[in-house]
Amino acid sequence: MTTPSHRTVPDVVAYDEAVARYDPVMGLEVHVELNTASKMFCGCAAVFGAEPNTLTCPVCLGLPGALPVVNGKAVESAIRIGLALNCEIADWCRFARKNYFYPDMPKNFQTSQYDEPIAFEGYTDVDVDGETVRVEIERAHMEEDTGKSLHVGGATGRIHGASHSLVDYNRAGIPLIEIVTKPIEGTGVRAPAVAKAYVAHLRELLRGLGVSDVRMDQGSLRCDVNLSLRASADAKLGTRSETKNVNSLRSVERAIRYEVSRQAARLDAGERVVQETRHWHEDTGVTTSGRVKSDAEDYRYFPEPDLVPIAPDRKWVDRLRSALPEPPAMRRGRLQTDWGFSDLEMRDVLGAGAQSLIEETVAAGASPASARKWWLSELARRANDAGMTLAELPITPAQVAAVQGLVDAGRVNDKLARQVLDGVLAGEGEPGDVVTTRGLEVVSDDSSLSVAVDRAIEANPDVAAKIRAGKVAAAGALIGAVMKEMRGQADAGRVRELVLEKLS
Ligand SMILES: [Zn+2]
Repeated sequence: MTTPSHRTVPDVVAYDEAVARYDPVMGLEVHVELNTASKMFCGCAAVFGAEPNTLTCPVCLGLPGALPVVNGKAVESAIRIGLALNCEIADWCRFARKNYFYPDMPKNFQTSQYDEPIAFEGYTDVDVDGETVRVEIERAHMEEDTGKSLHVGGATGRIHGASHSLVDYNRAGIPLIEIVTKPIEGTGVRAPAVAKAYVAHLRELLRGLGVSDVRMDQGSLRCDVNLSLRASADAKLGTRSETKNVNSLRSVERAIRYEVSRQAARLDAGERVVQETRHWHEDTGVTTSGRVKSDAEDYRYFPEPDLVPIAPDRKWVDRLRSALPEPPAMRRGRLQTDWGFSDLEMRDVLGAGAQSLIEETVAAGASPASARKWWLSELARRANDAGMTLAELPITPAQVAAVQGLVDAGRVNDKLARQVLDGVLAGEGEPGDVVTTRGLEVVSDDSSLSVAVDRAIEANPDVAAKIRAGKVAAAGALIGAVMKEMRGQADAGRVRELVLEKLS
């Protein structure tokens, strides 16, 4: 359908104008891949990045007669997530078949939960720029992931324009938890910021629970964004669009901004917003129409006959509840106080994903300030160069603490310590070993320093004369010459003392 030429509707209106005229209402659906050893209903390994179609079996390929068995660890993770989100945990619940055809789903149905989720009616308090916003949770249910389609030959990697498609079933059957919010209302102009903060908060909470590696870039945390506009806060809800697989925090924010601006343009023009799924394009920052979607009846849900119902023992649930980790906001506040970091410093630490690393480095004996310094400067730079996260660097918090220990003991200076880090990262062993094998230790033996100082004085008679005449500032040139000769492995303060002693 084309727009009649006599009437041009702009694609978007400016965001500020849009939120001045309309009230945005959001719903966020976050899919979390659990980090269980095996898949949801079979014994296949649940890992990322293996050769395509090597991690499959008759169950996850949906071959006739294959029978699924529920992964107990996945149920435990689901319950812990539900408890951490202040949800009620079902006494009894079932799986259901969600029927639809898609080539990356070998059974032609997804085993999910429909009207009987394991966790429901919860909430979580999100910090949005220093203010607490309560997000109500409608449900958290268990399901399995689909396989992955790879569309080959097109420019965009999407099916449109591709010459053929390949399917990898390694991901089919990986345990997923889908966390669905109730409509988030009343956030107005801050809607995009609230959504971003919620997803960041959820990621931190899930990381703290240890149930997922929550890598948005690898798809182990994915967000679908429902958005609608209405004329005012007391008007009835407008028609929503559902933008799929928005896979970074920044994209969550941008996709909502865009949808607000786009839907406002439609409504301004007296048009209807179409209920549909939309695709988010990271490169151009727009959403485009996917498939028109009506409501859930499409899927012909029915109870899964091959799986027994789940009826978690209340004592087990209570044990899981009492063993939950400290909530993220509380832990953050406690660590910030213990460490004596400013709000800005703490924000940098969180932004770099370094909180746990610093906590472990401090536990291994480093001061909080030194732990922060190494992780946020030297190691952050190396991680960035290598395209890794800090946690992925091949160095442990204990090793970082050991490097700082070498500095504190005067065995290496900061410059040499950086070379020790390089050695550890290159797999040359523990920090102490790197110092020995690379010969990095600071020369503290006065006799060899003394010889080097004498040589520097001899080579720079003019400078020496100036110092003798009282121009102490000139000593820098001699200290530099000595440090160069010692390849940086000297204590510059001690060299300075020696120079001034000899020339006084
Ligand atoms: Zn399998």
